Amino acid sequence: MPARILSGNAIRDQIYAELKQEISALSSVGIRPGLAAVLVGENPASQIYVRSKVAACEQLGLGSWLITPSAGTTTDELLALVAQLNARDDVDGILVQLPLPPQVDTKRVLEAVDPSKDVDGFHPTNLGKLVSGRPGLVACTPAGSMEILRRSGISLEGANAVVVGRSDIVGKPMVLLLMHANATVTICHSKTRDLPQVVRGADIVIAAIGRAAMIEPDWIRPGATVIDVGINRITNAAEAERIFAKFPTKLSQFKEKGSVLVGDVHPSVADVAGAMTPVPGGVGPLTIAMLMSNTVKAARLRREPSASRNTGNTGENSSGAIAAKI
Ligand code: NAP
Repeated sequence: MPARILSGNAIRDQIYAELKQEISALSSVGIRPGLAAVLVGENPASQIYVRSKVAACEQLGLGSWLITPSAGTTTDELLALVAQLNARDDVDGILVQLPLPPQVDTKRVLEAVDPSKDVDGFHPTNLGKLVSGRPGLVACTPAGSMEILRRSGISLEGANAVVVGRSDIVGKPMVLLLMHANATVTICHSKTRDLPQVVRGADIVIAAIGRAAMIEPDWIRPGATVIDVGINRITNAAEAERIFAKFPTKLSQFKEKGSVLVGDVHPSVADVAGAMTPVPGGVGPLTIAMLMSNTVKAARLRREPSASRNTGNTGENSSGAIAAKI
């Protein structure tokens, strides 16, 4: 039986409906959560990502500001900008779109963001809180992957979870979130020996590698759940033919547009897995939903710091309305 497809778009819509209620409750007491996005230079992919984040703010009625320093901006100029945003009371979340140009010290800029406004969850203070299970803001992509698992009724307690990829923004926080949810977690990377055999032991596979269609059907235990974080654009015709030989719709998309998206998981894994996220339309929409959720959460926690003492950071990355369900 083909895998159940875990639609990120449907889960995003649920989350937005919940957030709208919380935003309207905050609005009734005069609070409008707001996100400031800093987009340096003219990287086309970054422009698309930031535009969709600003559009999501507008859709939900959140405040949003797009600040666009030129590609030649310096570390000191960005530090001054971040300091200004830290000081503004109407800004609850600060997003610095990566990558920054090579002359900028990215770590210094990210570490300058006030941790209470760090809606990307990249600040070492928030990572430390995640490690120790204390409340904080959690990186959006792993938090979104957890929302998919939870809201799809995938049982995590005692499950064997294998995370392939150990980046600071996806793999590492993902491992911590799964561990706090009582899964037994294995983390894999480019030096892992016999990766297919390790992945075969998983009830839940998280692929965050950045290698097109790398995880093959015979790596997957029948019935396992597969969360495909990868987003890879295929522009080579032979590669498209190889990956999508059994997927005529995708091949015609490629022929029409000259490119097509694929995850880190081969699409034929759907023949073996019990449940699987699609690419596109899986984890991607949840990343933006969690950014919105973090902005609302930051607005709430900044104004009622006592709320932060009442919840543990055990995978909950959401605003109060969502957290109450977990
Ligand atoms: P990254 O920083 O490049 O990290 C990739 C990880 O994969 C590294 O830990 C690397 O191991 C591991 N890896 C690379 N080749 C491997 C191999 N052959 N076998 C086993 N492990 C291997 O990437 P990232 O930022 O985490 O992103 C991963 C993917 O997710 C990318 O496709 C990215 O576009 C996508 N992404 C999607 C979203 C979304 O919203 N859906 C958000 C963020 C990222 P080492 O540590 O040993 O080098």
